[in-house]
Amino acid sequence: MNSLPKNSMTACTLCPRRCGVDRTAGKVGVCGMTEELRIARISPHMWEEPPISGTKGSGTVFFSGCSLRCIFCQNRVISREGLGTVYTEAELENAILLLRDQGVHNINFVTPTHYTPIIARILKRIKSTLGIPVVWNCGGYESVETLRMLEGLVDIYLPDFKYFSSDLARDYSSAPDYPARATEAVTEMYRQTGAYTEENGLARKGVIVRHLVLPGCRKDSLEVLRHVARILPPEDIRVSIMRQYTPDFAMDAPYKNLHRRVTDFEYSSVLEEAERLGLKGFSQGKEAATKAYTPDFAGEKPPRP
Ligand code: SF4
Repeated sequence: MNSLPKNSMTACTLCPRRCGVDRTAGKVGVCGMTEELRIARISPHMWEEPPISGTKGSGTVFFSGCSLRCIFCQNRVISREGLGTVYTEAELENAILLLRDQGVHNINFVTPTHYTPIIARILKRIKSTLGIPVVWNCGGYESVETLRMLEGLVDIYLPDFKYFSSDLARDYSSAPDYPARATEAVTEMYRQTGAYTEENGLARKGVIVRHLVLPGCRKDSLEVLRHVARILPPEDIRVSIMRQYTPDFAMDAPYKNLHRRVTDFEYSSVLEEAERLGLKGFSQGKEAATKAYTPDFAGEKPPRP
């Protein structure tokens, strides 16, 4: 296991934005968060992939802030507006243990990248007695150096692979280097976990690559899948092809294609390509493309340990 930098938030380069700001002095970079641990929601969650949610739920910890800030983000009240409650490191540790004691199948850190050193410290203390897998549920815009802090601490990586095209990544997430960074990230994740494994229908370890099909971007989705199948052994991973895109959060975006839902043709042709490539995994029904599938964070107060 690698040792942690003393405090990588003093000149923060935790994600590929490499803002270099001193978050310990209250400064913020693109993610919008100081070193203060801000959390929007801690609860069992049933809407993840079946082997993650199972029958008892995935123990999710939704962090406030995000370094990607996609223009169609469905969780913008927490990712951009920073809704959340401040926790100490010890309070988060206790909250994770309480969540585990509720019987969830795993602990699922959602958009955790900008808090990696804190989470890694907690996991170093509790991982050996946690008894359930740890899931790292992130946007795929990760630095390999930061991921290495998690070696031996994370069992299941659940990264997005959003774009193959740098132009789309620039237009929708202001991150033209997204495809390159996501490529490095999923390669590192697979190196750490090895092949995807399930026990009794529940994920135990491995990489599940998520891809949200965007309206008007079908060809890019096909390229994402082809790329993933080139860089990772298809038989060793799972893909989760999502159709939950809803335009409700992007009506002010200057791209008309984002003002509608994904069509049946767009979604089914992406699924067909996954099958052709030998990629196994998960899909979503049409009913997923509604605001109802977006957790309502407004007014949400995470339970205090
Ligand atoms: S984690 Fe935040 S402050 Fe640090 S490099 Fe990324 S966006 Fe910038």
